[in-house]
Amino acid sequence: MTGATFDELDFEYATTIAERALAQMAKQRVPPTPNNFHLWFKYSLGASSDLKRTIDILISNKRKFDAATNQDLFATYIGSQGTEAVVVHEVSQQLHGVVDSAKQFLTTAIDDNRTQMQAIGDVAGQAKTGFDSKVLIENLVSELARATARAVNLEANFKEKSRELDAIRESLSKSEERARTDTLTGLPNRRALEEFFRVAQITAMEKDEPLSVLLIDIDHFKKFNDNFGHGVGDQVLRLVAKSLRDLVRGDDLPARYGGEELIAVLPCADLATCQGIAERIRRTIAECQFTRRSTGEVLPQITVSIGVGQFRLGEAMADLIDRCDRALYMAKKIGRNRVVTEVEVERKQLAS
Ligand code: GH3
Ligand code: MG
Ligand code: MG
Repeated sequence: MTGATFDELDFEYATTIAERALAQMAKQRVPPTPNNFHLWFKYSLGASSDLKRTIDILISNKRKFDAATNQDLFATYIGSQGTEAVVVHEVSQQLHGVVDSAKQFLTTAIDDNRTQMQAIGDVAGQAKTGFDSKVLIENLVSELARATARAVNLEANFKEKSRELDAIRESLSKSEERARTDTLTGLPNRRALEEFFRVAQITAMEKDEPLSVLLIDIDHFKKFNDNFGHGVGDQVLRLVAKSLRDLVRGDDLPARYGGEELIAVLPCADLATCQGIAERIRRTIAECQFTRRSTGEVLPQITVSIGVGQFRLGEAMADLIDRCDRALYMAKKIGRNRVVTEVEVERKQLAS
């Protein structure tokens, strides 16, 4: 994991990391203050290789984590760096700068206009008093040449400022993109999912088109993490996310729902179509041979269970996901590595 999107960690994973952080802190006798805990949580999560290297070196050199060291580490690795708030603040400062410059340009342009009017007025006044017409024209031409030179200069400045505005626009759109992306998998995050669903449900209702959702959960992932470590677990999660992204259509939205749960919203797909796609995803992942990147070691088969549901006009996203979740639960219960739809859940409920 590269960014500090702690909010996207699920309860169990975050608890595991927190416990590991507290154990390390106790071992190094670091007081569990909020700042220290933030730092050591990030360390335990492995969210920054630089932070990990620094702390590991300090530990191996038997350095004491005194107040000054803790403060320095916090300022270096947590502080306020890299947060969206800082980016937004910087962008807003830049925008203020550009707007101020634009105001100055306008003032200069208006002043220039006044000067030109004045100069031309003076020439006209001279004409009335019977000046030599050749001199008059020369005066006029040189005044116009000066005005043109100033206008060219202003135009160059404007171009430069408009380039700055383009850069600001790009940086804003990147920051917006980051806010909607999960850092571990690169998939859209929960926020992006909610935004997408809000639009998709309206289209489904307006056009009376189907809309379906599939909810994926990796099987026995806790055990996998326990056996191979969270780093390898993260690598697997990224690959599962990539399979999901590759197997849905361009109009669908694959996203990370939380922890090791992924989701996809499929506009224009009814339950049967969504079930077919879910089955393809399940099979592709089950047939995939995962290897440990660092050693090339072949890892045990990874499987996923998938719950599928179709949007009922007017319902809330939470209700639809709830039905997918129940289907997913049934898939887990009847053996994992399978796809179950809400219809099968209903049938079972009726039978019992
Ligand atoms: P089941 O087949 O019933 O889904 O079993 P499970 O072990 O996958 O389910 P459980 O919900 O008990 O545990 C989910 C585990 O997923 C816990 C946590 O270790 C792991 N996990 C959640 N988020 C992440 C993550 O971002 N990275 C890694 N490596 N593991 C994660
Ligand atoms: Mg789970
Ligand atoms: Mg699981």
